[in-house]
Amino acid sequence: MTTAIYPGSFDPVTNGHIDIVNRAAVLFDKVIICVYDVPMKHLMFDTKERVALMKKAVAHLRNVQVTPYNGLTVDFARKMKAKVIVRGLRMSSDFEREFEMALMNKKLDPDVELVCLMTSLEYQFISSSLLKEACELGGDITSLVPGHVAIALKKKFSARKANSVVRNATIRKSY
Ligand code: ADP
Repeated sequence: MTTAIYPGSFDPVTNGHIDIVNRAAVLFDKVIICVYDVPMKHLMFDTKERVALMKKAVAHLRNVQVTPYNGLTVDFARKMKAKVIVRGLRMSSDFEREFEMALMNKKLDPDVELVCLMTSLEYQFISSSLLKEACELGGDITSLVPGHVAIALKKKFSARKANSVVRNATIRKSY
């Protein structure tokens, strides 16, 4: 039985990520999506939210699990008894980064292999950061993410907007 892990920040999960998971689920007996538990301040969604959004997005896949993780990816792979790390590749900049990480991971644990799946053409331009930017500026991102993620994004941005209105009003009052 071959287990693979698919690590990432997934802030939030996009249709590009789902495409990679769908394809990995066919290639491997078990796929564990590992949501990186990095400090919340750099991310829009906290770890619990990112895990919940991902779980809902892959609920149709029986051999896929979702879990948070921190520390070295190769250590987590070993802990999960996974022989493979799956990553998605979009453009040449992804390749350079993945290549460097793969060499480092190979040094840290020569038994874990990296398998990179090329993005499908229609998802080539999707990145979590770009879609957050587009959404914040009022762009329609509904075809780029699962429905529940689009709703979560809109909620986050309207909460932010409401907070900044309150903050500005408080600042004005204090003058
Ligand atoms: P990280 O911070 O680890 O790069 P991301 O959530 O941005 O986390 O990406 C996780 C993985 O999914 C990475 O391997 C990334 O290259 C891949 N990925 C991101 N967007 C896409 C996409 N549109 N198509 C294919 N793979 C993607």
